[in-house]
Amino acid sequence: MPDVPRSYGRKSIRASTTPTALMDGPPDLADAWAVRIITLFPEVFPGVLDASLTGKALKEGLWQLHTTDLRRYGEGRHRNVDDTPAGGGAGMVLRADVLGHAIEATHRPGTPLIYLSPRGKPFDQTMARDLAAQTGVTLICGRFEGIDERIIEHYGITEVSLGDFVLTGGEIAAQALIDATVRLIPRVLGNQASVQEESFSDHLLEHPQYTKPARWQGRDIPDILLSGHHGNIADWRRGMAERLTKERRPDLWRAYCAAHDRDPDEDREL
Ligand code: SAH
Repeated sequence: MPDVPRSYGRKSIRASTTPTALMDGPPDLADAWAVRIITLFPEVFPGVLDASLTGKALKEGLWQLHTTDLRRYGEGRHRNVDDTPAGGGAGMVLRADVLGHAIEATHRPGTPLIYLSPRGKPFDQTMARDLAAQTGVTLICGRFEGIDERIIEHYGITEVSLGDFVLTGGEIAAQALIDATVRLIPRVLGNQASVQEESFSDHLLEHPQYTKPARWQGRDIPDILLSGHHGNIADWRRGMAERLTKERRPDLWRAYCAAHDRDPDEDREL
């Protein structure tokens, strides 16, 4: 059967051997960023993504969520999805055959296939930008000790980590990845300028922000921000962003200096 979706207006349809009763979620919207999630806990989605700007964008169809309940593909009467690790040791591992069936039913070739995993490449703003430029993504949420290694090899899965710590499951990591990506989809944020000016947009952390009242607990907003002089304000903000980045994130500072042909050890008055 061809795996090319046919488009009828915004809704695209696709031939499938999966019985209708096993198909998840709403129909594909042709121009929406489509996230497909394989999880043992589909009920935790969209979760926090239903709130605020990501929730509004979801309702407007700028992005779409399909969940695949891994349990449906479980083995036997108890729909087992996991088993003990080969070679012994603590915990349980998600079975290759079960996960394989779920991936076959869920993933759309041509979009990235990601397993959220503490062993993965650390997620960052560049990855979020790259993902936002795709038509969608499939995310596998692990549980217990993780998933059978052969699944990763067979499907050429990319492992992505949220950071150097261990969560109990991939669901929170998936929601963080989706949040960071969805807000980069055009029209999701009202003001796209804020995306260009925020942290990491130019290897820099963002400058400090202030708002009313002008004086709080004896602390004033820096005069320059109230001066109305846009050029001076922009210079001050860049200076502060550079100082913070240099102090807190030497790795970002080096990347910024390389991009701007500057010496990272220069003693410029910031
Ligand atoms: N035994 C594994 C940890 C399993 S934690 C190990 O030591 O590497 C269970 C699941 O939580 C993982 O399969 C993964 O999907 C998710 N997870 C845990 N920490 C994560 C992190 N830092 N980033 C992304 N996903 C994570």
